[in-house]
Amino acid sequence: MIIAMKSDATEEQIQDVCESIRRYGYKPHLIRGEERVVIGAVGHGDNKDHLQNLRSSQGVADVVPILQPFKIVSRELKPQKSIVRVGDLEIGGSRFIVMAGPCSVETREQLMETAHGVKQAGAQVLRGGAYKPRTSPYDFQGLEVEGLKLLAEARERTGLKIVTEVVTTEDTEIVAEYADILQVGARNMQNFALLKRLGRVRKPVLLKRGMSSTIKELLLSAEYIATHGNDQVILCERGIRTFETAMRNTLDLAAVPLLSELSHLPIIVDPSHGTGRRSLIRPMAKAAIAIGADGVIIEVHPRPQEAWSDGPQSLPLPVFAEIMDELRRYAGVESRYIN
Ligand code: PEP
Ligand code: MN
Repeated sequence: MIIAMKSDATEEQIQDVCESIRRYGYKPHLIRGEERVVIGAVGHGDNKDHLQNLRSSQGVADVVPILQPFKIVSRELKPQKSIVRVGDLEIGGSRFIVMAGPCSVETREQLMETAHGVKQAGAQVLRGGAYKPRTSPYDFQGLEVEGLKLLAEARERTGLKIVTEVVTTEDTEIVAEYADILQVGARNMQNFALLKRLGRVRKPVLLKRGMSSTIKELLLSAEYIATHGNDQVILCERGIRTFETAMRNTLDLAAVPLLSELSHLPIIVDPSHGTGRRSLIRPMAKAAIAIGADGVIIEVHPRPQEAWSDGPQSLPLPVFAEIMDELRRYAGVESRYIN
């Protein structure tokens, strides 16, 4: 339920309404807009009629139901787009963000070379998995804490922000200690214990769409994180499984503007996992700008042929730099900017 306060509602009236919402067994979620405060009442109480009573409370302008199953992350509750702040970096604002780096953190040399290269090309965020969810148990599983330390060192040296995946609830604390943004991988999009745990983290979360997940399921997973206390969520379209086998996944580009109609959260496109093919990164990254995405996440490796994971979709540094130049020009045409 959405409780819209009058533009001249006092702080006391706002707090009174929040208190009533709690008394009815719901959780108040306050959104302070430029003109007025809107309070979302979310939860699984069956006292919706009580919430309707709030209509006659002091300072309340209107009470309307939220029709979508996801509430806090919906545009119904918050029509203005959200900006997720990572230190001085804004994701979801007018700047198109580029996250780039290797699939996995392998060695100090590999990571530092990539970090300096993507920084020089104009990326703002360094990606790299220290904990890897691999399809085969015999594949490289990641350097774990050692990898996190290398990422922190790369941040220190370049000033790039760090995004890295968290795979289990047990690792959440240590990953949150090092990362600027915690990534939830496609395979974990419906790991509800992990999503709840991330609700208690005070850092942004990059939530990747599950490979067989619907848009509604993605938004409900985002809602899990938000309703457990962390509304700093960034959505990521990374391709879904379809009958098509020519590409690793089918990058569902239409999902991006649709997500943007349904939710106020920022949206990032992953053309690397979305296609699995180096040659398709450039056109798909340009498409991400055209469809209004807030940024891209791209796999880059100094020597892709030697990569320990996802080599075939990783770009060598010179090609990444070339694509960045092209994206910069193209962003200008679309009245966006990269840096
Ligand atoms: C990754 O980012 O390297 C990764 C494992 O991605 P996804 O979860 O989308 O497959
Ligand atoms: Mn990868």
